[in-house]
Amino acid sequence: MHAMSMAVPDSVQSDQYRCYHEDPRQRFRGQPGFVVVPRCVEDVALILKLCHDHEVPVIPFGGGTGLVGGQLVISDLPRPVILSTERLNCIRAIDKVASFLTVEAGCTLHDVHLAASQHDLLFPLLLASKGSCQIGGNLATNAGGVNVVRYGNMRDLCLGVEAVFADGSVWHGLTGLRKDNRGYDLRNLLIGSEGSLAIITAACLKVFPIPVERAVFLAAVDHPKAGLDLFQIMRREFGLMLSSFELISRVGIDFLSETQMGFRNPYDPMPDWLVLGDLGSECAVELDEKVISFLNDANEKGVINDALFAQSQAQIDHLWDMRELIPEANRRVGAIASHDISLPIDMIPKFIQDCGHLMASIGDFRINCFGHLGDGNLHYNVFPPAGQMAKDFADVKSMVSETVHRLVRDFGGSTMAEHGVGRIKAAELKSFETPAYMEAITSIKRALDPKGILNPGAVIERYEDG
Ligand SMILES: Cc1cc2nc3c(=O)[nH]c(=O)nc-3n(C[C@H](O)[C@H](O)[C@H](O)COP(=O)(O)OP(=O)(O)OC[C@H]3O[C@@H](n4cnc5c(N)ncnc54)[C@H](O)[C@@H]3O)c2cc1C
Repeated sequence: MHAMSMAVPDSVQSDQYRCYHEDPRQRFRGQPGFVVVPRCVEDVALILKLCHDHEVPVIPFGGGTGLVGGQLVISDLPRPVILSTERLNCIRAIDKVASFLTVEAGCTLHDVHLAASQHDLLFPLLLASKGSCQIGGNLATNAGGVNVVRYGNMRDLCLGVEAVFADGSVWHGLTGLRKDNRGYDLRNLLIGSEGSLAIITAACLKVFPIPVERAVFLAAVDHPKAGLDLFQIMRREFGLMLSSFELISRVGIDFLSETQMGFRNPYDPMPDWLVLGDLGSECAVELDEKVISFLNDANEKGVINDALFAQSQAQIDHLWDMRELIPEANRRVGAIASHDISLPIDMIPKFIQDCGHLMASIGDFRINCFGHLGDGNLHYNVFPPAGQMAKDFADVKSMVSETVHRLVRDFGGSTMAEHGVGRIKAAELKSFETPAYMEAITSIKRALDPKGILNPGAVIERYEDG
């Protein structure tokens, strides 16, 4: 480490304390490391070359909002370098003709929203962590969020990346080309690799026209099947105008009251299930009238029981705040176990029913199942009964998670949906993926990072050389 300190310019060493060790859900604390804060791609290349030469592990760190421990050293590693991208925060360029922004990895998602909106454009990735999470972290985790129904996830939103490999070599892949079939798709390999194959330093991101009309509603449904029916009919009727379709359970709304998040219940009495829909159109089509008339019709036909239609931007914000505050309310209540799952979309109602029965056979739990119904990604979080603490259920935690995950696999789903593998799920990936898949990804890791210095233990369990 001494040799490194001498060779690296002052600018790359951290002179301020930010929290590089906290898990957003406060489940554990990361091990300390030597924090470096590069200002440019050349700094990143120099740091990686030195770490490669001296076999020092490097943990890429963006906004620190990842939920699977990929940015935190929670295993026993020789004191690592934590490479924070916070100073790589420049919006480099905008190409209005080809509709893309070139931004550095350390720009927060919120910065990118602002940069796009200054040009009357939209960058549609939307996560509740938008103020802290960074574009590099969004790419590294292939983040999803609430607009996947229409715009896709980070892989769909990225045209090119600039990245530094483990030995310090730089790949200048910042192309805004929509068609580019030069050999293997390295960009899409690095996206979602959670810092285990390279450090992403910049990216070309697609931007879109801002919808000129928007319609947001909250509908009460008897059960998730009715929500799914509504989704299917809306897709047929409104096509790509439908950008979000979220499922919310009564338990989630109860948690907002219980944790005093200052939120007014939208219904009294509260229905068991709600769906939140968001539609937008780039040209004037009288979307409000069409959606209101559609919801009236759905109400008459008994698909929904009631609907609230947002009449102003303040009401739109209120409905979305309700949805986005649920993860924080969950954190305050304290889950026994949380699961980030995706399922074949038509199986979701049966999964929720079957999993509820299985949970009831284990204990008297409260279940907050909510999330992105329109793209099949749910958060299935299991909580103790009111007045009890999650720590008192430590003995059943693994049984709960194994039961949920087994059922997800039986239904042909994934237990690593939008948050990824990180360190927390690396062992699970190994035990459930086929040997062919594990051999293929391990070979890729060995080829791009032969000394195993990049984020060891993330995605692939602790990588051993040789
Ligand atoms: C309240 C809340 C809501 C959330 N909602 C969503 C959601 O709706 N959808 C969703 O997908 N996720 C969600 N997340 C998870 C998280 O916000 C995303 O995973 C986000 O993309 C992580 O970005 P970050 O900058 O915080 O990355 P970090 O947490 O810093 O890092 C995440 C991973 O990426 C790696 N990494 C970071 N930067 C780079 C880089 N430049 N190059 C290579 N590797 C890098 C890290 O090593 C780590 O493995 C949520 C989290 C919170 C706390």
